[in-house]
Amino acid sequence: MSNQRVVVLGAGIAGLSTANLLLQQEKGFKVHIVAKHFPGDLSGEYTSPWAGAHWRSHATKDDTRQQEFDRITYNHLWKLAKAPQNKTGIMIIDEFEYWERFPQDFSDPWFKTLCREYRHLRKEELPTGIEFGITYKSISINPLTYLSYLLNNFTSLGGTTQRVNLLSHLNECLESETDIVINCSGIHARTLGGVEDPNVYAARGQTVIVQLPRSYMNWAFFKRAANGGEVTYAIPHDDGEVILGGTYDEHKYSTDIDYNTAKGIIQRCLATRPDILPNDQTQLTIKRHGVGLRPCRKGGVRIEAEWTISKKFGKRILICHNYGHGGSGFESSHGTAQHTIKVLKEALQGRPNFQLLISKL
Ligand SMILES: Cc1cc2nc3c(=O)[nH]c(=O)nc-3n(C[C@H](O)[C@H](O)[C@H](O)COP(=O)(O)OP(=O)(O)OC[C@H]3O[C@@H](n4cnc5c(N)ncnc54)[C@H](O)[C@@H]3O)c2cc1C
Repeated sequence: MSNQRVVVLGAGIAGLSTANLLLQQEKGFKVHIVAKHFPGDLSGEYTSPWAGAHWRSHATKDDTRQQEFDRITYNHLWKLAKAPQNKTGIMIIDEFEYWERFPQDFSDPWFKTLCREYRHLRKEELPTGIEFGITYKSISINPLTYLSYLLNNFTSLGGTTQRVNLLSHLNECLESETDIVINCSGIHARTLGGVEDPNVYAARGQTVIVQLPRSYMNWAFFKRAANGGEVTYAIPHDDGEVILGGTYDEHKYSTDIDYNTAKGIIQRCLATRPDILPNDQTQLTIKRHGVGLRPCRKGGVRIEAEWTISKKFGKRILICHNYGHGGSGFESSHGTAQHTIKVLKEALQGRPNFQLLISKL
């Protein structure tokens, strides 16, 4: 496995986490990231900068695969948050989950034993209009800071990067010396030639980013409306920015800001937790609006390896996929990166845990 040349397509949370871990934990790989967008860019085509982002696992009780990804990531992010001179944009917060109507079928989530200080809220702790709630210690990630941290770490470990236009086919990121491609193309896996995964679809999410005094908020909330559909949340970041949300519109691809929706988000957030607004302020200071497309996938995140033959370069190339994280890209990032590397190594060692695909490239 020496001197394998790896191209990672994508510099979102999936690509950067996988590329970093590969250089940190393995020897013998030269890793090169190719992407249209890199940390610092704000574009509707690039989901990661628009994430909340907090750890609030979506894994169901039966979905032990997703639970494992989220568990590994929770423990990893916790360590980063606790590290001395933490410059990752990650911090520990109190998470509150609210239900407007008492959930008759409620049972404690799988992470009850993972998240510190998990408990049900007492009646007197519930905001007006809320019938039930839980709280636990969770993690908030400032996506802009964390993505930049990962990129800097990657280059300091010897990784290289290349900005490209939007590729129309996976074979466009191959060079004669490429041995392995890790496909972390997010929502673009839907249309990218050589992948064109029909199971991938967007869930559009709109947010309003407001500026509060740094350290004013060290808690997040997530509320389910009585009608079951609408979600309302606020997530603080280490620099005092707070992300107010949200929307979750499946199969919607517009990245235009809807200002009526934004107004509704602010109203819903303040109605749930009026203490978002500091006592000495009469209104929130809006810094920017956000719209991002969550890269959802029927069947969940795709982590798979397949061999292909490049006709152009006359050689076998290993393709590893790591895309389709939906609304969980940050909270499962380390776990899915670890699993991608495991699948990659198994494929290189010839274990039968992958498909053999004779060439689309
Ligand atoms: C409003 C909102 C709130 C969210 N909140 C949370 C949260 O609280 N917690 C959480 O865990 N997750 C959250 N998410 C989900 C999270 O943001 C996504 O799961 C994650 O960002 C997906 O990352 P990615 O790396 O797969 O894709 P992206 O970030 O979109 O990165 C894709 C990369 O691939 C490149 N690329 C793709 N195709 C091509 C091509 N053909 N040519 C060149 N370059 C290409 C892009 O330029 C980019 O660099 C939220 C999302 C939204 C929208």
